Amino acid sequence: MNKIIKLNKKISSKIAAGEVIENPSAVIKELVENSIDAHADSITIEIKSAGKSYIRVTDNGDGILEEDVILAFDRHATSKIKSIEDIYSIDTLGFRGEALASIAAVSRLELITKTESAENGVQISINGGEILNQEKVGSKVGTTIIVEDLFYNTPARIKFLNKNSVEQRRINELVNFLALSNANISFKYIVNDEIRFVTPGKGELKNVILSIYGKNIAKNMISISSELDSVEINGYISNLSLTRGNSSLQVFFVNGRYIKSDLIKDAIMTAYKTMIPINSYPICFLNIALNSKEIDVNIHPSKTTIKFTKKGIIKQLIYTSIKSKLLEVNQTPNVSFEDQLFKKTFSSSSESKDENNKIPKAKEVYAKKLKKLEKKEQFNEKKIENNPFKDNYKAEHTIGNNKEKPNFIDLDVFDVDFKQLEKIESKNDNKILKPEETIYDNLKIIGQLFNTYIISEKSNHLYLIDQHAAHEKVLYEQLMEEFREKTVHSQLLLSPMTINLTYDELEFIMEKEEAISNLGIKIESFGRDTILVREVPILFNKPLSNTVIEDIILNIKKEYNTPYETNLELIIQKSCKNAIKAKDQLNVIEIESLIKQLKQLESPYTCPHGRPIIIKITKDEIEKKFKRK
Ligand code: ADP
Ligand code: MG
Repeated sequence: MNKIIKLNKKISSKIAAGEVIENPSAVIKELVENSIDAHADSITIEIKSAGKSYIRVTDNGDGILEEDVILAFDRHATSKIKSIEDIYSIDTLGFRGEALASIAAVSRLELITKTESAENGVQISINGGEILNQEKVGSKVGTTIIVEDLFYNTPARIKFLNKNSVEQRRINELVNFLALSNANISFKYIVNDEIRFVTPGKGELKNVILSIYGKNIAKNMISISSELDSVEINGYISNLSLTRGNSSLQVFFVNGRYIKSDLIKDAIMTAYKTMIPINSYPICFLNIALNSKEIDVNIHPSKTTIKFTKKGIIKQLIYTSIKSKLLEVNQTPNVSFEDQLFKKTFSSSSESKDENNKIPKAKEVYAKKLKKLEKKEQFNEKKIENNPFKDNYKAEHTIGNNKEKPNFIDLDVFDVDFKQLEKIESKNDNKILKPEETIYDNLKIIGQLFNTYIISEKSNHLYLIDQHAAHEKVLYEQLMEEFREKTVHSQLLLSPMTINLTYDELEFIMEKEEAISNLGIKIESFGRDTILVREVPILFNKPLSNTVIEDIILNIKKEYNTPYETNLELIIQKSCKNAIKAKDQLNVIEIESLIKQLKQLESPYTCPHGRPIIIKITKDEIEKKFKRK
């Protein structure tokens, strides 16, 4: 433990501009970083009303000498640097010596501390920067700081605080990151008298992930560890079966310090590209260790953005280590994915065992898909047997061997009344549709092509409808409409579906319960990491599928201040997209009902992503191909 000294003016003024304590999370950050600097290996963080009324940080670190206690609250008093050179080689976290002073100035603060060698502890109370009293007390070795009524004497700053839910989330994130980047410290996090998590502090990141984010996430993480040109990367990445709707669970540290980095994000996304669905994001907890000379030191320490000098190497390292790991585990044979296995993995202390157990889920999913496809193919073959297109289908495949058979569908097969058509065409020749008439009116449905396109005709034109795009659009509009009108019909599920989340996600989503219920989804929290879905909306006379519901729920986690409603459109878009399969066989009734629904839309020509729903091929074009014209 170093003695606290006061920095001389020259040094302190050269140090980056004084930090401002902006919110409860900034207080916690400073206090916990002090505890870490004081070599604590056990830190308790307790808050009430999102830290606005109460913050307590207790550590078992070095403590402060009795004669230094008052000095610790002096501006620019620090035990951590002595000269300007120290600023650039600093290993400790805070170094400006003004955090305690700033916090004490805007709160009612109480500090109790004891060093190893001291006979007794000291307690000091400060209100708005004014020392009320100091006395000897009994205490364990270490330091406790309690900050109550933050900003009580600066009402203007209270106004700038966000509502509790937002401040709470910010703190959760901070505490999570602190615990993740200090796996060797046991963190206990208590919110409104309830213990959120306790990390074991044994240096194993996977156990920290387990404590904070729960079993469902932890069991799907794969460890990676690699090195290139004296840059090291270590941590955990999610297997292919675990993704989120945004990148908020991609957490990076550089030399143990939390940072934001688009460079790292891009490299990760490139590595996962094509292996996971679009618009989904893997979960990662990664630390990059490199010589601090390779980082731009002139960046303000409170900022989380960072500049690397070895950009290319970092990118390459992240990309190749993740990609090769994903490919490697993806070839692992099927292993049954039991909790037992999970327990074994996570209770075992050996780091190396756990990789191969994670991925089978993806494999299983893939195998299932394959089976489904096979089934479908059999089914398709059956269908083809009694398919009116059968001959033409064959013809298409035998062309070249048998030149007599046409390469293209003979229109006569479909009973087209050309005379009738000509009449209609001449009527509609100027292509002006009656105001209430859409392309979809009076369409004559011919059939389905590749299980993907609906073939139809009208007025001497052949129309192809992308059933996937059409379906998506209908679903989208329907959901939007029902949401706007708050008339979503729901159905009670006989057995509720469960969705596993992290505690933070659960809390966030339960705040949105009402908005979600307007979507026709009735949810309930169940324990600390599970949501029960009791009611789901009915669309197309069918309850919305589990995957869509899960997708909607998981996608609700968005940036802090964005109003939920503005995200709704995106959520629904995405959900609809996942809801529909391109290669579904539709019967005539289904096709007709789809077209009927399309007709009622305001803009039935493009899907929510702007792709066309319907395209037209004129009789002219067809005739030209046959060299009739
Ligand atoms: P800095 O951390 O930049 O030195 P602070 O205002 O945060 O400035 O803290 C001032 C000093 O108080 C520190 O240098 C340290 O000596 C002492 N201190 C603060 N918190 C603790 C703690 N939890 N345990 C031991 N010493 C502490
Ligand atoms: Mg500090």
